[in-house]
Amino acid sequence: MPNLITRARSHTTRNNKNVYGLEERNALFSKDPDVRKFDPERILCNMCDKWIALPPEDHLQAVQKWLQHRAGCRGGTGVT
Ligand SMILES: [Zn+2]
Repeated sequence: MPNLITRARSHTTRNNKNVYGLEERNALFSKDPDVRKFDPERILCNMCDKWIALPPEDHLQAVQKWLQHRAGCRGGTGVT
């Protein structure tokens, strides 16, 4: 079924806005061992035990915010 392959995101546009859909965001979070729980508006860090508020509709921003927090946690600076 070659159709399925073409269907899978061939839109490599330069548009930064919707790089992450909700599904990608959830997939990323659920694979991350440092994420204990998450819902559309927040994420629970497994390292510092804190909920981080996330923009529910801006998935790129949400992912970036989490990555930033995680980097801070890893580095021991505890960025919130
Ligand atoms: Zn943390």
